[in-house]
Amino acid sequence: MKKIKRSIFWFRRDLRLQDNRGLYEACKSSEGVIPVFIFDQNILTKLKNKKDRRVSFIYDSIDLLEKDIKKKGGRLLILAGDPCEIIPKLSKSLKVESVFTNEDYEDYATKRDSTIQKKLKTDEIQFIGFKDHVIFSGGEVLKKDGTPYRVFTPYKNEWLKQVSEEDIKDYNPNLKKLLITKPQGIKIVKAISDIGFEYEEYKTKAGEKEAKKLLSNFLKRIKDYDKNRDNISLNNNSHLSPYLRFGCISIRDLVRSSNKLKSDGAKVWLSELIWRDFYSMILDQFPHVEKSAFLPKYKNLKWSGKTDHFKLWKEGKTGYPIVDAAMRCFAQTGEMHNRLRMIVASFLVKDLIIDWKKGEQYFAQNLMDFELASNNGGWQWCASTGCDAQPYFRIFNPISQSDRFDPEGEFIKQWIPELKGYSKKYIHFPMKANEETQESANCIIGRDYPEPIVDHAKQREVALKLYKIAK
Ligand SMILES: Cc1cc2nc3c(=O)[nH]c(=O)nc-3n(C[C@H](O)[C@H](O)[C@H](O)COP(=O)(O)OP(=O)(O)OC[C@H]3O[C@@H](n4cnc5c(N)ncnc54)[C@H](O)[C@@H]3O)c2cc1C
Repeated sequence: MKKIKRSIFWFRRDLRLQDNRGLYEACKSSEGVIPVFIFDQNILTKLKNKKDRRVSFIYDSIDLLEKDIKKKGGRLLILAGDPCEIIPKLSKSLKVESVFTNEDYEDYATKRDSTIQKKLKTDEIQFIGFKDHVIFSGGEVLKKDGTPYRVFTPYKNEWLKQVSEEDIKDYNPNLKKLLITKPQGIKIVKAISDIGFEYEEYKTKAGEKEAKKLLSNFLKRIKDYDKNRDNISLNNNSHLSPYLRFGCISIRDLVRSSNKLKSDGAKVWLSELIWRDFYSMILDQFPHVEKSAFLPKYKNLKWSGKTDHFKLWKEGKTGYPIVDAAMRCFAQTGEMHNRLRMIVASFLVKDLIIDWKKGEQYFAQNLMDFELASNNGGWQWCASTGCDAQPYFRIFNPISQSDRFDPEGEFIKQWIPELKGYSKKYIHFPMKANEETQESANCIIGRDYPEPIVDHAKQREVALKLYKIAK
């Protein structure tokens, strides 16, 4: 690439300085790089809740990024508005030759980027995107006949066969190239209120340094990941998903870290990272999944569930403690353990007979780590409508799942304190306890904690019939 005098690096889902491919390429090919972040109004106006923790998380990550850039002698331009207007205008006024960025594969983002690219072209400014968010993008890991995989294990095997040192290279940019600019007539964002939001507290800390800290702590316990990953009360997994979502850490960094270790835990964890690429590939190669079932035969399932049951599910008042504890924790934190996501999703779809798309949407609005591809993949897996999904006749029993993965009921008691008086024997289904036991537990079912809103055994039959008819 010929030497460029001045370029813009546009941060999007890559809020970090270390191992950032697009930023590395910008610094390598340019004499000076202007770092820019835009709060995209087209995305933000769709968020109805103006106290959204994810916005606070991004806001804090940007703030930390800006401080780090300052230490290196540059200045991050933090702007708000429509990138299709801002990027071309800014590029012209700052007289840059190129705009560098990292690729974003979601439908809205690809359309936005192609509009920007066309506009920039009229001013002879290049728009250059790099792969950074995944190890392999949509069409890179294909079957021998050139078609996309539909089953995870062969995809994973091919992924492992293809991955080379080049794919997981550490791209450390020359940050001395970062510039300070003061463009005229463009409003800089100085407070979260400038983008129409109020600050909402969240549990974790934001930013690149925190992500690195979480990773290094997790690597100390990764060897037992294969054994512990489903243990809900231990909740000992990496907790890196929001950082991956907003790019506070590089996926290559995670793959390099797990590759250095030989334990079964590290192997299983790598497999989870490959699931992330797999779902990203599915969304890219089968874009219809965003709106409907991957499997056409399950496109028109007749959902007979009740609206008030959906409300009770969201509020954590179904009478199934593990479901309720998970949903209450989710409402308060935006976080949920993977096993719990599977349990509550299965319960919504196969116990309450409610369309998985409603659950997917509720998760999308509230998940701290919301990622369209993984969320859609996860929901379709649980609803048995997806590729390589759980077969429709495998229906999670919320009581035995609870007994297996939260055996002492610690997680339940943390989020449903009214059940604290119940022993291990009844905590998973207190409805079974007789009057005397309920009294001594200080929690009467139907008065202090809801009775089950459905009978799992009966609903199981309803679900089986629903899927059989569709077949
Ligand atoms: C219904 C449902 C919805 C989900 N929605 C999302 C979502 O919106 N965003 C999201 O990142 N994950 C989603 N997942 C996957 C998974 O639950 C989370 O990635 C995981 O709980 C994050 O915790 P962690 O970072 O501690 O994961 P770890 O167990 O430490 O795994 C490391 C990383 O691997 C990836 N990963 C792990 N499991 C999966 C998986 N099943 N599918 C795809 N990637 C995976 C994540 O990036 C995760 O951060 C969903 C799963 C289900 C069943």
